[in-house]
Amino acid sequence: MSERSESRTQSGSRSYRRVAAAVDAVCAVAADFDATTLDAVVAAIAVERRREIEIASARLGPGVCGQRRFYPDRDVIVLAEALPSRDHTLAHELGHIVFDHEGAPAPEVTLEASDDLIAYMLSQRAHEQIVADGADELAEWEAETFAAMLMTRLRVFNSRGAGVSVLRFDEALG
Ligand SMILES: [Zn+2]
Repeated sequence: MSERSESRTQSGSRSYRRVAAAVDAVCAVAADFDATTLDAVVAAIAVERRREIEIASARLGPGVCGQRRFYPDRDVIVLAEALPSRDHTLAHELGHIVFDHEGAPAPEVTLEASDDLIAYMLSQRAHEQIVADGADELAEWEAETFAAMLMTRLRVFNSRGAGVSVLRFDEALG
């Protein structure tokens, strides 16, 4: 898509409007699916994209809250165990997926792999992700801004207990 390559070539410019548009789109999908929790929003986005988003938990490297892994048939969001801000990290990783940020390709994993081997591989991946995250400041900014905006919308919705139409309201942030 030309839109996508255009946004890539414009890397370096932070656009609240671009992020707000993405949050709008996500919230519209969420409203269609009556999704009021972040996990439900992730599930709704997966259905909308016709591509599974699996949420997994693993022991990640120090300082690593979450990471993404891409497989031919699905995306996997891996969240660190006992995360104090699980939802924010989940929203952050969802932002990367929505923006189609490039991540490191997942290594081949055999179905017979033991839990220990998978944990080991995930910890190795976590180290790589730190490097990759630092390398793309714009992607990190977009994911963080997306997470903040989306969490604010969900909080407003859940505190007011109004209809899902609240998810569609325009929010000015920043
Ligand atoms: Zn990130």
